[in-house]
Amino acid sequence: MQRTQVGQIEIAALIEGGFTFPVERVYSEAGTAMEPFRHYLNSDGQLTMACTCFLLRGGGRTVLIDTGLGPESEGQLLTELQSVGVSPDEVDTVCFTHLHGDHTGWNIDRGSGRPVFARARYLVPQGDWDHYRAQAEARSFTRDVAPLESLGCLELVAGDHAVTPAITAVSTPGHTPGHLSFAVVSGAERGFILGDVVLSAIDTEEPTFTNTFDTDHPLAERTRLAMLDRLEASGELVGAAHLPAPGLGHFVRADGRRTWRALT
Ligand SMILES: [Zn+2]
Repeated sequence: MQRTQVGQIEIAALIEGGFTFPVERVYSEAGTAMEPFRHYLNSDGQLTMACTCFLLRGGGRTVLIDTGLGPESEGQLLTELQSVGVSPDEVDTVCFTHLHGDHTGWNIDRGSGRPVFARARYLVPQGDWDHYRAQAEARSFTRDVAPLESLGCLELVAGDHAVTPAITAVSTPGHTPGHLSFAVVSGAERGFILGDVVLSAIDTEEPTFTNTFDTDHPLAERTRLAMLDRLEASGELVGAAHLPAPGLGHFVRADGRRTWRALT
């Protein structure tokens, strides 16, 4: 867990866990194209990705962005939430950057079938809802997201939706059709919860690589380039789910290359 402040909004990075993949499962360009980035890989050529959720508190609101991998992966979200002194019942809004299973795992209590965040509205990206509801084999959607409708806590949202006066959903499609990021503005300060627009530090330096987890490669690349340019220019705080835990930092230019600089 790591906490920081954007104006009056406290941002806590809650570390759910992580996973490791052979790099060729993540990037089509694996091989010689990967040589300049080998320092980002384990000694056996695997890429480790963190899995982090973000809790935003301020102005009387408690907003959780993404709910991680879930209990089957021994995710630590609820323990991390406890470590910042917040109970699941205090969360008033759950937002999703997108509906992949590593972002929805703690939605529903496996025993009771009730929402884990019992008093919260769950704000689901409309574009992802439409996309995954049409796929019969979308298992995590069936388990984690579809029940929200009959439980009465589902709200479908798209870009430019004001979650709170300080937090606005921003459309950043490509990784999934309805992917959202969340802009935080408080006083003169800004922050940005990026989601999976960038999946590893390699994307930061080489945003045109083809990421096998992206639904629409050309659109994902356009979004990635635009967001990296914007966030580097503004210098604002970024929260990114899969960059090295706890995933808070800045995109900066060093030695002529764009790179990720973790918050210390
Ligand atoms: Zn993800």
